[in-house]
Amino acid sequence: MANYCPACGVGKLTQTQRTYIHIYGGTLVHVPAVLAWRCDVCHLVIFDETALGRIDLLVGQSGPPPNIAPGRAVPAPEPPDIASRDDLPEDPPRLPEP
Ligand SMILES: [Zn+2]
Repeated sequence: MANYCPACGVGKLTQTQRTYIHIYGGTLVHVPAVLAWRCDVCHLVIFDETALGRIDLLVGQSGPPPNIAPGRAVPAPEPPDIASRDDLPEDPPRLPEP
């Protein structure tokens, strides 16, 4: 007995592999080649619950991966405030009249 698509009701679900993308705690995680089911009529893709459970378990054990590369956790310094510089002319430079 074939599995029918829960969305359209007429398409049959066939096994495939897709890249699973999900945000865990603000960190985008993508997992290639995750077992999924694809409808041959409306092309709905449903990820395999067991595969998603494994991903949740792997990510959940140590929490989401760091969102910032090591050594880059310090925020970038503010750009210099050019309005407070007194060595700049009041007006921007202009091209001479032809
Ligand atoms: Zn369908």
